[in-house]
Amino acid sequence: MNLADVEIFFEEWTPRWTAWERDNVGIQIGRRSRKVANLLIALDATPEIIEEAVTRKTDLIVTHHPLLFRPPSSISDSDYVGAMVLSLAEKRIALFSAHTNLDSATGGVSYTLAQALGIAKPAFLVPLKDTLVKIVVFVPEQHVDAVAAAMASSGAGIIGEYQSCSFRMTGKGTFRGSAHSTPALGKPLRLEEVPEIRLEMMVPRPRVTAVVAAMKSAHPYEEVAYDLYTLENGNPNVGMGAIGELSKPMTLGAFLSRVKRTLRANSIRFSGSMSQTVKRVAVCGGSGSELLENAIRDKADVFVTADVRYHGFHSASGRIALVDAGHYETEHIVLNSIAERLRSWAKARNEKLVVTISKQSTNPIHSF
Ligand SMILES: [Zn+2]
Repeated sequence: MNLADVEIFFEEWTPRWTAWERDNVGIQIGRRSRKVANLLIALDATPEIIEEAVTRKTDLIVTHHPLLFRPPSSISDSDYVGAMVLSLAEKRIALFSAHTNLDSATGGVSYTLAQALGIAKPAFLVPLKDTLVKIVVFVPEQHVDAVAAAMASSGAGIIGEYQSCSFRMTGKGTFRGSAHSTPALGKPLRLEEVPEIRLEMMVPRPRVTAVVAAMKSAHPYEEVAYDLYTLENGNPNVGMGAIGELSKPMTLGAFLSRVKRTLRANSIRFSGSMSQTVKRVAVCGGSGSELLENAIRDKADVFVTADVRYHGFHSASGRIALVDAGHYETEHIVLNSIAERLRSWAKARNEKLVVTISKQSTNPIHSF
């Protein structure tokens, strides 16, 4: 496989359109035709990670945090980022990042964190609204599979871990073409009746133009009849944070021990009482303080996130237990999820891909 294949893998799991507008995700450095057989995963690209990549003969480093965030004015060894870009290019190592698009994905940062802390079936704390459109298209029976396949390959019909989701209902279509028409079925100026399928698929709004274009090119009719409906439901594939219930209630003290052990955190900051009971848990890996009110509204007993400020703890007081387990600590757990998915994807493609999670901590913060 090559870098372009890896790009498609991430596009299907963590589409670019779900990243924050000012984020910079995807290929950071590298040619799309670059062969990839040996891949290293880390939370950040650092000189030490690059050194490890060289030792391991890595073709591609996948990180969560992008190396190139603001457009650089030059690439030289006079600054930290420029020196690393040069070093990667010289060593022919590609770099790919999935950042806020990985935060918002099922199986992404917050989902993995929730599952690691004992929530078997997490849901998004804030599912994205107004991002889904339903496309309904009327297709003659013998063409329905081709039209559905074209729509699916452009991004339609994804619900959670399921792809090519559609609904099909048989009916009868009628039309009468003008003298200038060239109908695929029947003759101009005659009322025709054709058995048709009403094919329905969900599409994320940013993919609508591409899906409609693919649908039209696979459809046999000169004029394609289709409807677009805006959906009110939250998008089950994209959202922020995660929420769910522990299998058994426990004291906050016991839960904090679990957080510390699971995330290998040296210390965690929290507000609340050690003896209070927690069952409903909300999480957001990395800086998720802005979701505190959502966690309270959704009746979570405890909210686990990072980068919490003093006043954040104050505003949580008496309303929810708040835990700051560290930015690196709440995010590094997602590296397992990336590795597992990449391994099973390569296996399904019958291709050899060595996937290694770096054991080096790239956490710049230490406890004293
Ligand atoms: Zn982060």
